Amino acid sequence: MKKQKYMTWHSYFMSVALLSSFRSKDNKTQNGACIVDPNNKVIGIGYNGLPAGCDDNDPQYWQDQDDSDLTHSKHTYVVHAEKNAIYNCMLHNMTGAKLYTTQFPCNTCAQAIIQVGIKEVVYLRKKQHDSHLLINQAVDKMFKAAGVKSMAYAELGVSDSSFIEQLIATGENSFN
Ligand SMILES: [Zn+2]
Repeated sequence: MKKQKYMTWHSYFMSVALLSSFRSKDNKTQNGACIVDPNNKVIGIGYNGLPAGCDDNDPQYWQDQDDSDLTHSKHTYVVHAEKNAIYNCMLHNMTGAKLYTTQFPCNTCAQAIIQVGIKEVVYLRKKQHDSHLLINQAVDKMFKAAGVKSMAYAELGVSDSSFIEQLIATGENSFN
């Protein structure tokens, strides 16, 4: 007999994105992303981190109090999870793929998502403070123009969303 309770696709892929985020060495923000092809196969995984070769122990890469000196700002160096998932992708035809991400994409990740042909984005969180509202609007405008559908995981009505809540709590307990 078939098992009655098993994980939904949405929670499965969001779990992969979340698991990946637990690898991030960024003090403040841990994001993960995974790319899924139209046959529901995971083809790329990433988390936010420094480019290859940059020493994680060099504090110059991680400062984020003040962006007046861009040579001492993490925003100059850190590669976002979505872009790392694209760079780590095993197939370089991402046409029609979906991307699961722990955070709604920023403008430059949105550009990358559009340019590689990803058509759906499912996100867990969306930054809502003032400085991000305009960026979010710009992303929505680009996604609309390119025919990329974005959906909040919470709004999908996923039956096993409590699993994701538990996974977040487990990550916070284990890695904070
Ligand atoms: Zn980004």
